[in-house]
Amino acid sequence: MPTMRLQTLSLRVLLFLGLWQTGRRSLASAPELQEQPKKIAVVGAGIGGAATAYYLRQEFGPGVKIDVFEDGSVGGRLATVKIGDYEYETGGSVIHPLNLHMKHFVDKLGIPQRKDVPSKMAIFDGKHIVFEESDWFIVNFFRMLWRYGLNFLRMQMWVESVLDKFMRIYQYQQYGYSFSTVERLLHAMGGDSFLTLMNQTLEEAMMGEGFTQVFINDIVAPITRVNYGQSVRINGFVGAVSLAGADSGLWAVDGGNKKVCSGLLYNSKSELIPAKVTSISVKVRPSKRGTPVSLYEINYVDQSGAAHSLYDIVIVATPLHQGKSDITFSGFSPPIPSHYPGRYHQTVATLVHGLLNMSYLGTTEAASEFTVSDVLTTDSNGSIINSLSSLDPVHIPKGYKRPPASQANVWKVFSKKPLSQEQLENMFLSYDSVSETKWLAYPAYHPPHRQTPPFILHHRLYYLNAVEWAASAMEMSAIAARNVALLAHHRWHEETGKIDQEDLHTRLRGEL
Ligand SMILES: Cc1cc2nc3c(=O)[nH]c(=O)nc-3n(C[C@H](O)[C@H](O)[C@H](O)COP(=O)(O)OP(=O)(O)OC[C@H]3O[C@@H](n4cnc5c(N)ncnc54)[C@H](O)[C@@H]3O)c2cc1C
Repeated sequence: MPTMRLQTLSLRVLLFLGLWQTGRRSLASAPELQEQPKKIAVVGAGIGGAATAYYLRQEFGPGVKIDVFEDGSVGGRLATVKIGDYEYETGGSVIHPLNLHMKHFVDKLGIPQRKDVPSKMAIFDGKHIVFEESDWFIVNFFRMLWRYGLNFLRMQMWVESVLDKFMRIYQYQQYGYSFSTVERLLHAMGGDSFLTLMNQTLEEAMMGEGFTQVFINDIVAPITRVNYGQSVRINGFVGAVSLAGADSGLWAVDGGNKKVCSGLLYNSKSELIPAKVTSISVKVRPSKRGTPVSLYEINYVDQSGAAHSLYDIVIVATPLHQGKSDITFSGFSPPIPSHYPGRYHQTVATLVHGLLNMSYLGTTEAASEFTVSDVLTTDSNGSIINSLSSLDPVHIPKGYKRPPASQANVWKVFSKKPLSQEQLENMFLSYDSVSETKWLAYPAYHPPHRQTPPFILHHRLYYLNAVEWAASAMEMSAIAARNVALLAHHRWHEETGKIDQEDLHTRLRGEL
């Protein structure tokens, strides 16, 4: 995601951040007298699965065994590649300053944030650079005012109003409240307005707020294209998340974002099982209390072959969608599908070490003067790329300065399809290394999305990635992780008063 000085953070949310940091966990984790679960499984060790293991440990205490199954690499969509002597992010790269769970994780794990390197943005229409950010804030401000009137300022206010409501989730979770569906979670944060946002396009939402079509095409579309590879027809909620992702103060984890995942797994004292889960089936057993209980059998394949294990609680922390996972569910009534409706959008991340061809960008600017870090693109037919960014390594070496385009550097190109050799030769005067990652990156958003999957698949079987249909981002997976850990805890101990409560904002207002 690009950095653009769009927004100043409201005093209110900063105050909230301070309060949140002081921590108010007491009510959420009252000591339990009832029997605790013995074994919990988490499927997937991306940020969602790793954060789930962390919060499960917090909720259920030291006695429970937590197994985390991972078929690929810990980190999932947070991944790096090595080019020359340095590592670079190929997947999820930047984190918003008000993503409090991610912030909490790095603080807790003692991992520093990556050193900040100032960024600069330009917009390319497929033929020419149509806008280039100046080094001077005041110049940018007047250029924007001249071209778009007050649209720009109003966008900051609009995103901030969404963010203000979004921040409520931290307080609810701090008090131990959880939600059984994505819709209920969104409603608790922003009432009907958030549900409306999720069910209309960003374009409709912004037109409804009085933004001009020109502004939406020139400024908003390039931001949704770089962040979600899609147009302004994504849903309004993920659109607002995307616009917040163009905010100032974005950060990343020193050494790579995936370090948070391995750190959380270690901190939670869970066991990582490098295996592919093939099926989950329900087994009903009599219990001491007389009422039958459900246990879940996880069938998996690891290096030494097929095996299975029984669990009291299972959390699926990978998308149940075509191309993302192929888990079959058996013995459930109603049946649980392997794949929910909807598909994931492909974004290809191509990292190239080479010399940029300035004439590709249709500019006569000297390459030695071109210090733009993020070239965003408009939604025009000419744009085969979604963005082109000069990449900084995951660890910024001492004295590092982003080189101008006259020097060979690592560039990251996001596109919908893999780049052909001809396209690469158009973009670069020369290159000596190309690394391509084809991501099924985030949902293809076509609102209204009427069949958002539930967080609860069965009595004690939960699904984290349902949340991505509202918005896909590291923090969204972290929020869903805490939500499913709380849900699992409350449903195990039959504390229904902490699930799907209405009007929490008003009820908790006095507590702030
Ligand atoms: C190119 C790109 C750029 C992005 N940019 C940003 C950004 O700048 N900021 C941001 O906040 N977000 C960004 N995102 C989104 C963010 O990366 C994701 O929302 C987040 O990482 C999802 O994490 P997750 O743990 O929920 O899922 P995943 O990371 O997909 O984790 C699921 C894990 O489950 C494993 N798995 C799947 N099936 C099985 C099985 N059967 N058995 C065992 N294991 C299995 C997978 O191998 C995977 O590791 C970006 C994503 C992409 C792809």
